[in-house]
Amino acid sequence: MKPFTRNCMTTFELQESDSDHHMHPFTCGSKLQSRRPRVVVGGRGVWLIDSEGEEILDGMSGLWCVNVGYGRTELVEAARQQMQELPYYNTFFQTTHIPAVSLAAKLAELTPDNLNKVFFASSGSEANDTNIRMARTYWAERGKPEKSIIISRKNSYHGSTVGSGSLSGMTAMHSQGGLPIPDIVHINQPDWWSEGGDMAPEEFAVARARELESVIIKHGENRVAAFVAEPIQGAGGVIIAPDGYWAEIQRICDDYEILLIADEVICGFGRTGNWFGSQTFKICPDIVTVAKGLSSGYQPIAASIVSDEIAHVIDQCEFSHGYTYSGHPVAAAVALENVRILEEEKVLDHVNQVAAPYLKARWTSLGDHPMVGEARIVGMMGSIALTPDKENRAPFAAQTGTIGEIVRDQCFAHNLVMRHVGDRMVIAPPLIIRTEEIDILIERAVQALDDAWKQIKKEDLWR
Ligand SMILES: *Cc1c(COP(=O)(O)O)cnc(C)c1O
Repeated sequence: MKPFTRNCMTTFELQESDSDHHMHPFTCGSKLQSRRPRVVVGGRGVWLIDSEGEEILDGMSGLWCVNVGYGRTELVEAARQQMQELPYYNTFFQTTHIPAVSLAAKLAELTPDNLNKVFFASSGSEANDTNIRMARTYWAERGKPEKSIIISRKNSYHGSTVGSGSLSGMTAMHSQGGLPIPDIVHINQPDWWSEGGDMAPEEFAVARARELESVIIKHGENRVAAFVAEPIQGAGGVIIAPDGYWAEIQRICDDYEILLIADEVICGFGRTGNWFGSQTFKICPDIVTVAKGLSSGYQPIAASIVSDEIAHVIDQCEFSHGYTYSGHPVAAAVALENVRILEEEKVLDHVNQVAAPYLKARWTSLGDHPMVGEARIVGMMGSIALTPDKENRAPFAAQTGTIGEIVRDQCFAHNLVMRHVGDRMVIAPPLIIRTEEIDILIERAVQALDDAWKQIKKEDLWR
């Protein structure tokens, strides 16, 4: 078969051209130029193939999205058929189409009972932008336009557009381009390992949840529209809140009549062992954001799934919002096929009965490594905290991220994709990973940690 993307260039030439013309997201271009990106040319299952023919185990499912793995021909076929039949149409002006109708109904079926209406977008960022406008419009329509503050968390990730980037609690993002937009407030994250001090995890969890209550009281309940959070913070380093956190958050949102928006862009579609992270942590959201695993990344598609109450109110007005590609037929058809695969192949059963228990046992054993403090995992997303002093949960003296990057580079050298977030290492492999592949993942992670440990000692960074 003729390759679709013509390549008559060497790896070196591809890298040169990349550096001349391609600006990468969240990357320092000049640094990348000197270090050279790997050129990924294909994938099968949990494996990536690069332009040198190396096979790399993808411990990150791309960017937390390729839940069913690479190379699924059913998804290709769904796209091909839909492109042939109706490659594009919109749903703006009194029209609809079969893929949007079917996917919306399917999402209503999969989500908890009170969530039955869907607003489509093409990315998690866009869907969260929709949520900002939807939550504020909801209160305005109910005669409370002053209820416009949205509370989010430091070190959360909700996207990179001006709106969703404002919700995101990452200082590096806020220092560029004049973010956040008005009426976004950030509270502290439930990261016990780094910020818990002498508190017991459960005590810390409740204290951090109650910051939400303090902020609501400070601004006044009549000013606050919503609280938004990821069930597990993904890009922030797979931060799993200690027990008790979510129950307290739920109580506060209920007591003060604040909408709870669960950003399930990573946690959705099986990542935590349930269809949604909200089910894993017993959260009852008013709006759920989905993207990534919705199509296993094969097509850009996202959605805000909203409660009957919100849908009822929003439906009374003309909601002046939407994207050219909202509910794009090809993307929706691929998402439907992806959901069919998850259901018919019982991928969640594989996660719960095979992959997650096995991965958990092997992943937590990394806690014995001299460099690893906590090793935590829920379902198929986990993290390890790197430390020179486990006892005191101390950070490295070097600038945050220095050690993480060394470990990341060592993983890459061992043909394993594991991402670093500061000095935490994170994984989120495809849900279909087999136990033999988990063994390889752990084996390579240990080799990478060992080599990084030697390098850190040699470079006198072990302190
Ligand atoms: C990736 C991510 C987003 C943003 O999604 P994009 O498709 O990159 O815009 C939003 N929220 C969470 C939790 C994410 O992980």
